Amino acid sequence: MIVVLKNNVSPEEENAVVEEIKKLGYRPHVMHGVARTVIGAIGDEHSHRDLEVLNAWTQVESVTPIQKRHKLVSREAHPQSSTVNAGGVIVGGKKIQVMAGPCSVESEEQLMKTAHAVKAAGASMLRGGAFKPRTSPYEFQGLGEEGLKLLAKAREETGLPIVTELLSQDQAELVAEYSDMLQIGTRNAQNFQLIIAAAKTGKPVLLKRGMSMRIMEWLLAGEYVLANRNPNLLFCERGIRTFEDYTRNTLDLSAVAVVKAESHCPIVVDPSQGCGKASLVRSMCKGAVAVGADALLVEVHPNPTEAISDAAQQIDLEGFAALIDELAPIAESVGREI
Ligand code: PEP
Ligand code: MN
Repeated sequence: MIVVLKNNVSPEEENAVVEEIKKLGYRPHVMHGVARTVIGAIGDEHSHRDLEVLNAWTQVESVTPIQKRHKLVSREAHPQSSTVNAGGVIVGGKKIQVMAGPCSVESEEQLMKTAHAVKAAGASMLRGGAFKPRTSPYEFQGLGEEGLKLLAKAREETGLPIVTELLSQDQAELVAEYSDMLQIGTRNAQNFQLIIAAAKTGKPVLLKRGMSMRIMEWLLAGEYVLANRNPNLLFCERGIRTFEDYTRNTLDLSAVAVVKAESHCPIVVDPSQGCGKASLVRSMCKGAVAVGADALLVEVHPNPTEAISDAAQQIDLEGFAALIDELAPIAESVGREI
């Protein structure tokens, strides 16, 4: 930590800060500059008490941490990029994986048709919500366990591993039994007990960014997965709330570059929730691939206008096949494949 003292601090006041730093378990190193005194507090910030308490001292100007608070997910801790294996699909390697499927599992016919079509077009995982976190209690809440069974059946028929959302701790074992990756949605991105329950199943956890979450808060939420001895964490950027309402959310592609720099965990981009408009999904997928996303999560429906949830943002089967073809040269240009 670097502690900067205010101007005109007396030797007694400086000494009081030095003694406090020692009391907190650090070795103080005092540097007297021309205008300011700076104290380097040397010690492991992860195992010692937080020096930020010194911010409350009147003689202290600022306290700046040196070590990252997100220690396990940080690149500092693990310089090489990690890969996550979900039912045999490796996310974070050279190949950009595409997770595609409907917003909600609606029926056997809808799901099987979508699963076969996205598989034929080149998707590597199937997405679909069985437990849906709907804004209104009067909207379709998902098929529940029946939806999970249909997802498992689609996996049996196509070989595509499944990613699906869980909404509560008591669903963790059930959802883990039927799926290959557990999705924590934007509305639960800081529901730490839910994140811990998901982590404890041992299955990969896809952590969406909370719609009002800062990147550092998101990384710290992900820290709960690794701290609970599950190394299989993926971050998923899905758009944040801004003043802009032309799009449903503002897809923050800069967050992809930031997470890549700050963390070794794979990063996924969901342009469907990100924009809320089917017509924008192709462009944003291209941007996501160019900026370094390891995977895409795309909503695909055989008849989007009749979808029970998120009708405006789901692309149709033909649109999805065309999208994959268009992404191939972009992936290649950044040294990846799709
Ligand atoms: C979804 O993937 O359908 C979904 C509800 O996502 P989010 O949590 O990002 O809104
Ligand atoms: Mn959706």
